[in-house]
Amino acid sequence: MIAGQPVSLQPGSGICKVRRSQGPTVTVTADLLVGADGGASPVRNLAGIPLRRGGPQGTALCAEITTSAPHEQRAFERLASEGPIALLPTAGDRNRWCLVWVRDTTTTQQPGLPIGELQRAFGWRAGRIEQHGPVERFAVSPARVPWPCIGKVLLIGDAAHRLHPVAGQGLNLGMRDLAVLAGMIGAADAAPTITDDLPTRFARQRRADWHATTRFTALLPRLFDKRWPITPLRGVGLLALDLLPAAKRRFARRASGLLPTPSDLERGVPLP
Ligand SMILES: Cc1cc2nc3c(=O)[nH]c(=O)nc-3n(C[C@H](O)[C@H](O)[C@H](O)COP(=O)(O)OP(=O)(O)OC[C@H]3O[C@@H](n4cnc5c(N)ncnc54)[C@H](O)[C@@H]3O)c2cc1C
Repeated sequence: MIAGQPVSLQPGSGICKVRRSQGPTVTVTADLLVGADGGASPVRNLAGIPLRRGGPQGTALCAEITTSAPHEQRAFERLASEGPIALLPTAGDRNRWCLVWVRDTTTTQQPGLPIGELQRAFGWRAGRIEQHGPVERFAVSPARVPWPCIGKVLLIGDAAHRLHPVAGQGLNLGMRDLAVLAGMIGAADAAPTITDDLPTRFARQRRADWHATTRFTALLPRLFDKRWPITPLRGVGLLALDLLPAAKRRFARRASGLLPTPSDLERGVPLP
């Protein structure tokens, strides 16, 4: 394994120069170069793959909090009009959670967590909320590449698509990329070389999931945004979800990252 930063890339030939953490720069030649290096992806930038940005959508406040009621391994996502609030249980302490609260950036300037507002917006389902650790802030700015490959370079995960954190879909989507890619590479391993069309086949196969998940995570926070004047429609929509169990199940499956056609790996089929 070579640890270091890519400094130049020729997508057509799969040649990449890597500045090693220790020692001189080395040149690597690969049949397939996968950029799984996150939202700021150096591989994407060096390969010249453009990124389509959706514009800023607030700031995510992240902190560890405790509640007076135990989490019992439950996670909550509350689509409050002040912005979506996610409470994710942590291992080890049954009263400790990770909070992700996406708010309008203008309301996130003060240091610390506005506990009173959080308690009002989230309610008392988990009891009294208290801040436990420091608050981290992340700018929420969804973005996507129109097409994730060029030559022998292919992007997966946040390098290809950065989502709004609502409903926690980002990691799921990246894991599904990985499952499909692992299946394709596994199949290609049986052949003499990875064929040149693998990145394009991957991109075609993943397109529908990327579109659907991006749309879902873009729409969900807007539906509950107090600045969007659709309150009566939202009420009708939620009532319809309650009255139509099939629609409710579909919504829950989509929010859980479960798709109608899971990959082989997701279905437990071992790689070829
Ligand atoms: C506030 C917030 C809350 C979120 N909540 C959720 C959630 O609840 N559920 C969910 O599914 N998703 C959530 N996400 C999204 C999730 O964090 C990302 O979608 C996921 O981490 C993307 O994984 P990734 O591996 O593609 O990128 P990253 O997690 O960014 O990982 C890329 C890695 O590549 C490494 N790297 C970069 N360059 C090099 C190099 N040259 N050599 C070696 N390593 C390198 C980086 O150090 C990094 O560790 C959230 C995101 C945010 C911002």
